[in-house]
Amino acid sequence: MSEIIEPIANMASELNRLPGIGKKTAQRLAYFVASMPLEDVRSLAVALWEGRKAIRFCETCGNYAASDTCAICGDPARHNGQICVVRDPRDVAAMERMHEYTGLYHVLHGTLSPMDGIGPDQIRIKELLSRLETEPVEEVILATNPDVEGEATASYLARLLKPMGVRCTRIAHGVPVGGDLEYTDEVTLQKALEGRREIG
Ligand SMILES: [Zn+2]
Repeated sequence: MSEIIEPIANMASELNRLPGIGKKTAQRLAYFVASMPLEDVRSLAVALWEGRKAIRFCETCGNYAASDTCAICGDPARHNGQICVVRDPRDVAAMERMHEYTGLYHVLHGTLSPMDGIGPDQIRIKELLSRLETEPVEEVILATNPDVEGEATASYLARLLKPMGVRCTRIAHGVPVGGDLEYTDEVTLQKALEGRREIG
């Protein structure tokens, strides 16, 4: 039986909480950390700690930001009348990776899921509506994931926004059904964006 001393076991169990890090990998990483110079471990820990502390949410779109406003909302060139609605900040990063979309975003921080008790008030829909009142928006691109919750959220928003005279489009199904924007390659995502269709 292999014995792992407690400090290494503790590191492994924390690392194991990260996505994609299984028990074995967590242990391997913990052993690696155990072999690192103490100063290097401190730099790593400080980078995570300070980085996490410095992250805020953009007051306008809900994306990650280092100040009150994110870099995208702070760029006048991005205010082109388009708002792309996504589930979470990782989806913004995925869209930005393809260097094709030039408008703004709105991050919902979730999708409608009545089963889990997530209704319209639990995600940032109110904030989107107030943006439509104050910003000159011509098109809202609904880019929630093509899974059950994402589709339900897109239809709900389309029904809500249409009467406000805003053009609502849904990204095409280039993104595999049940797939995740975050893991969709840039070309597929670009096609999905180009092939978006009016809904509602
Ligand atoms: Zn923003």
